[in-house]
Amino acid sequence: MEYFEKGTKQDVIYWSKRLYQKGMSPALSGNISVRTDKGILISASGTCLNDMNEDDIVLIDFDGNLIEGNKKPSSEKFMHTQIYDLRDDIHAIIHSHCPYITAFACVGKEIAEPMLPEFVFNIDKVPLAPYNLPSSMQLAIDTAALFKDKDNVLMQNHGIVSGGSSLQQVFYNLESIRAYCETYFAAQVLGGHKNLNKKQVKEIKNLKL
Ligand SMILES: [Zn+2]
Repeated sequence: MEYFEKGTKQDVIYWSKRLYQKGMSPALSGNISVRTDKGILISASGTCLNDMNEDDIVLIDFDGNLIEGNKKPSSEKFMHTQIYDLRDDIHAIIHSHCPYITAFACVGKEIAEPMLPEFVFNIDKVPLAPYNLPSSMQLAIDTAALFKDKDNVLMQNHGIVSGGSSLQQVFYNLESIRAYCETYFAAQVLGGHKNLNKKQVKEIKNLKL
């Protein structure tokens, strides 16, 4: 598999294109960032993730001020700065409007049914932050607050934001959440899913792989 040194513009471009090509960032939606020694490399406002080139990635400081680049940083920059501020172990963030995942945000349902062992083990739960105006500081604050003990957070009537140690890790988590959501929808058509029971969930959580 081809991917690039973590925390570089090439890394951001590579995972942006994969997000778009997987249908996880339709049109101009979504934004993506990595933590670097100099600040945060983040996609510029109005960028289609599939068409991104190096000029579409700007450097901001941890207060959201532009340090390098000729474009405006993503309007959701505060969501990224607030999460990096709260969690030293997070080095990469992706915000996505993936339709299957966003459907849960639109009905106001957190993603938490213990339906698939892989999900129980790797993700466990995607909590739901309340609706706030997109790009507002309040949205950033309320969403970041749920990152205290989770790496993925839904935003009511909006989408999802995910953080991790690298863009590769965040991408795989998002892909796995998307697969859960698709499975969930298909299961409803077939008559409704059955959850794992408490004992089964406990056994999965105690697995040491
Ligand atoms: Zn958004």
